[in-house]
Amino acid sequence: MQGIVVLGATGSIGDSTLDVVARHPDKYRIVALSAHTNAKKLLALCLKFKPLQAVLVDDSQAAWLQGELKKAGSTTELLTGSAALCDIAAHPEARQVMAAIVGAAGLLPTLAAVKAAKRVLLANKEALVMSGQLFMAAVKEHGAELLPIDSEHNAIFQSLPYACQQGAAYGQHGVTQILLTGSGGPFRTRDLTTFDSITPAQAVAHPNWSMGQKISVDSATMMNKGLEFIEARWLFDCRGDDIQVVLHPQSIIHSMVRYADGSVLAQMGNPDMRTPIAHAMAYPERIAAGVEPLDFFALSQFSFEKADAARYPCLYLAMDACRAGQGATTVLNAANEVAVDAFLKGALSFNGIAKMVEKTLNRFASETASDLAAILALDNESRQYLRTLLPC
Ligand code: NAD
Ligand code: MG
Repeated sequence: MQGIVVLGATGSIGDSTLDVVARHPDKYRIVALSAHTNAKKLLALCLKFKPLQAVLVDDSQAAWLQGELKKAGSTTELLTGSAALCDIAAHPEARQVMAAIVGAAGLLPTLAAVKAAKRVLLANKEALVMSGQLFMAAVKEHGAELLPIDSEHNAIFQSLPYACQQGAAYGQHGVTQILLTGSGGPFRTRDLTTFDSITPAQAVAHPNWSMGQKISVDSATMMNKGLEFIEARWLFDCRGDDIQVVLHPQSIIHSMVRYADGSVLAQMGNPDMRTPIAHAMAYPERIAAGVEPLDFFALSQFSFEKADAARYPCLYLAMDACRAGQGATTVLNAANEVAVDAFLKGALSFNGIAKMVEKTLNRFASETASDLAAILALDNESRQYLRTLLPC
């Protein structure tokens, strides 16, 4: 029986993780859960999964939640505040930690899980984008086990030789390139001249995946693929030149690995995050995830395209930032979080997201960030700078 902590339990990845856990009560038990503000959902999860601890970061509804837990006879200990996230991430009874908080808020708790040498199931790509070098060094230093949840990175991991999954260098095992696939999002064929009128509701309506709001907007701008490019560079210890982005609108191939002998290995499946989650939880075994088997006769076609720079400027900003280093990727991530939030609130146009991110990158172009304090300071400065550019 393995104990699991789910950081970001009330989100989309949290839902999928708990669905997989519920299918295997003989293998996994929930040690702790966290939520930002959704006290009602956290209550329901506490009553269903009976964790030892639960964190509600925003304490305004903590008294209500405490009262409801008591009424229901629950023994779950309720904690509040963001520091408690780091405590549950290092809980001694947990073997695995699902890092599924969205954005920079996930960095410190995810690092806490790494420092506690857990098996870290990494969905929170922003943590790695901000701190790749430092994060991967911490994984090594503390002997943590890092398994990718992002479907593309999980697909790449599955398509690599076993020796490389265990850390061997790719060159020695014939790997020549990583092919990072992406659907192109909801605006792949939309007339470019109409992009300024894109609404938040249109942007979050992804054709193939059901996800949280921020990652859905990132998928529409393809900043998501840019963040994933940086994520792949760190997870797989390769250079940006070794990664090629390939548009695959059907989202059935989740990414591929190219080999020296001409082989290309792909991982396929229906677009359902329970597959990579179940893979990472059970690795190197396999368990059922509740995902419909892929029906090849129902698939109409497989197609592939290049990602156009005029349509997806965010992707290219991210690839450039990856080449520039950790300072630039920290600025990129911070600026994108603020810009996406402003877009969702109606304070910025869809095209404005890339423009604001570019302006912020230019402003902090010469900054480097080699330790955690410098990363957090640069993240904060970038956010403040971008906010001054936005209409109030
Ligand atoms: P979501 O918005 O549905 O859920 C986010 C979770 O984080 C919630 O539980 C929320 O309570 C918590 N949270 C938000 N802000 C917080 C804060 N300031 N402090 C503490 N907790 C906070 O998001 P999601 O779609 O589940 O995505 C989670 C992460 O997984 C993101 O980093 C995303 O990029 C990554 N990811 C998601 C998918 C997907 O299919 N949804 C796929 C790949 C990667
Ligand atoms: Mg992905």
